[in-house]
Amino acid sequence: MTKSTILIVDDMVANIKVLGELLKDEYKIRLATNGEKALQISRSSNPPDLILLDVIMPEMDGYEVCAQLKTDKATKNIPVIFITAMDLEKDETKGLSLGAVDYITKPFSLPIVKARVKTHLELKHHRDILEDLSTLDGLTGISNRRRFDEILEIEWLRALRESTSLALLMIDIDHFKLYNDNYGHIAGDDCLKLVAKNLLDGIPRPADFLARYGGEEFAAILPMTDTKGAVTVGSSLIMHINALKIPHVHSLVSDQITISIGAASIIPDRRNSSVFLIENADNCLYLAKEGGRNRVESTDTG
Ligand SMILES: [Mg+2]
Repeated sequence: MTKSTILIVDDMVANIKVLGELLKDEYKIRLATNGEKALQISRSSNPPDLILLDVIMPEMDGYEVCAQLKTDKATKNIPVIFITAMDLEKDETKGLSLGAVDYITKPFSLPIVKARVKTHLELKHHRDILEDLSTLDGLTGISNRRRFDEILEIEWLRALRESTSLALLMIDIDHFKLYNDNYGHIAGDDCLKLVAKNLLDGIPRPADFLARYGGEEFAAILPMTDTKGAVTVGSSLIMHINALKIPHVHSLVSDQITISIGAASIIPDRRNSSVFLIENADNCLYLAKEGGRNRVESTDTG
């Protein structure tokens, strides 16, 4: 199992050192000495599994950091434990009401901090498992449409914040109805599973995301990717699926299973939404179908 990552946020370097020393053998430790930096790390593509958060910091205090984390879909599930010298009941109540899972007051006992961190990481791990079950497609085991909608929203907001290009591939198996009609639904399901697995293998980077969009349609979200990059990925997926040589003698474009892909990219701005990106990729998929299938068509909407 990979080590969990803990983000320690405190404006006093001495405090960070004490907590870092305590936890560094069991966890990967990241550090932030102000709220802004803490938010930046939490919103990155490699977020922490748990945050130890000081309350009193200049500029943005811990309450504000926690409130911002909890209003953002991408960060709201990261458990936050406040560690603070503010030991009044009203302070603790405020911290918990903002969505923190725990509140530890200074001076703290190191073994207790360690034990609470462990407990909350375990709880998060179990929540993650349940979350996975509700976001996976039952047949293919890859992410489902619900998860796709969530990830697209998260990546859209990230690309908007960072002014980077976000690309989307809409992928459809060619003449899949003819496949089902001739080979039967069990073979059809096997075909979907095999295609899903190979599309997943063919998506190059860890930040890229593939989901079953519905029926025989899949969608891939490619952060930090322009149209040219999306077409490169799309072309390689098409070759990948061709190389499987799944027989489909009733296909009208080939004697084996092929896919068509619509690729679009955009640098988001506040005037549009992710629906615009989906529509563009969908239109390109339509063009790929019209153009003879087994191909990728693209548009640059940025
Ligand atoms: Mg402080």
